[in-house]
Amino acid sequence: MQDKRKLLSGIPSVDELLREKEIEKLTFTYPRTMVTEGIRSYLKDYRQRILSLEDAEELEAAAQAGLIEGIIDRIHDLMRSHLMHVINGTGVVLHTNLGRAPLSPAMKDSLWQIASGYSNLEMDLDSGERGSRYSHVEELLCRLTGAEAAMAVNNNAAAVMLVLSTLANGKEVVVSRGQLVEIGGSFRVPEVMEQSGAVLKEVGTTNKTHLPDYEKAVNENTAALMKIHTSNYRICGFTSEVESEALAALGQKLGLPVVEDLGSGMLLDLTRFGLPYEPTVQQAVKAGMDVVTFSGDKMLGGPQAGIIIGKKQWLDKMKKHPLTRAIRIDKLTLAALEGTLRLYLDSEQALKEIPVLRMLTYSQEELARRGKRLLGKLRKSMGTDVSIGLENDYSEVGGGSMPLLKMPTKVISIEMKSGSLAKAEEQLRRYRTPVVARIAKDKLLLDVRTIQDHEFDAVAEALAWAFERIGKPKGMEGEV
Ligand SMILES: *Cc1c(COP(=O)(O)O)cnc(C)c1O
Repeated sequence: MQDKRKLLSGIPSVDELLREKEIEKLTFTYPRTMVTEGIRSYLKDYRQRILSLEDAEELEAAAQAGLIEGIIDRIHDLMRSHLMHVINGTGVVLHTNLGRAPLSPAMKDSLWQIASGYSNLEMDLDSGERGSRYSHVEELLCRLTGAEAAMAVNNNAAAVMLVLSTLANGKEVVVSRGQLVEIGGSFRVPEVMEQSGAVLKEVGTTNKTHLPDYEKAVNENTAALMKIHTSNYRICGFTSEVESEALAALGQKLGLPVVEDLGSGMLLDLTRFGLPYEPTVQQAVKAGMDVVTFSGDKMLGGPQAGIIIGKKQWLDKMKKHPLTRAIRIDKLTLAALEGTLRLYLDSEQALKEIPVLRMLTYSQEELARRGKRLLGKLRKSMGTDVSIGLENDYSEVGGGSMPLLKMPTKVISIEMKSGSLAKAEEQLRRYRTPVVARIAKDKLLLDVRTIQDHEFDAVAEALAWAFERIGKPKGMEGEV
């Protein structure tokens, strides 16, 4: 039986702990100040924990808990990069909180070359004079989409802002009431429009907007017509929207530019894989849209970026707009965007090499085969107090794309004979390579679709580690 006061006074001093062999070793790799900081912060928590415990058994467990190991873990935690690789077991392919699209490993070397050296970011190597950073993706984007001109900025929200500021500052933009979208976070069409200095002119109703609605709203102060893809919601039932072709033709007739915010921006039609129809970027260009914007890290499967394509006359103006400097794309993103777009030159290669496309187009057989392989690895590393199997479930696209779609998938499902699922889920997130899982129907679920093959071993390690920890005596679980 442990006495609380005795336990507290028995805690070694910071100096004593610094002389402990295992801790002293860390001062050779890490700054001494950070090692000291790790000791102090762990001791503070350790003291508080002892003070909060009343139960004799819990105190005993706390006394037995490895103080040195706890401190060492804490120091490693302090020194480890804050932004880190996480394994996505949620089945949400474009998980905004987990960084949306994982990039293709095909461009690993070229990315590193641009990152670690100088580059021709803004130099024309033929003339030796100043070049444009957009030149690296402009030709590619035009080739892939059929547009006359293109540029890329920080993200799609910035792209929409730039388009509206350039075309419609102080003037009206006509938009259907059914398309006043809010994307998660703070992107709301009416607010973005206000920020850009454009004046929103709503037409039609929530469920129906017709071509004459747009035409009637146009006056001498109108600068543009705009269509927004309602990527993250659907209006069903008695509805109608104006087709891009008809809107583009109306713009042409009235001498007004027509803008489309496509949101996701698909370059490939994925209906042959059982995905619902979504308008592609090429279709929007073909329909006659003057300017089209979309995200780099949604269905395109590239880095965070906003892509603007369209008629040269408008793009030239945008490239010169002062806002462009504030939202410009950086060289690493540009390298990743060019690398991703290059893969699209061969659509079969894009489907194979771009992780987002691969995850969205897995066949059921592939998912089952991959699931069995992962299950085999997990079974080997797990104890007998859990039952683990492979089940059918559904994954989602996420990132506000294809909101109604439920894609049949295979999940690893774990049931615990005793203990808390919530604790297990939490411990998985605390592993060196965190694993984000889902809890449903009293089971811990890991979706095979969003876990990449090279991550299988790390998932096995994480599960073994997490379940070992929640098996430990009360008073020390989940502490480090
Ligand atoms: C996602 C989305 C945006 C915002 O794009 P980001 O790249 O996240 O800034 C804007 N408009 C629509 C229609 C979208 O779906």
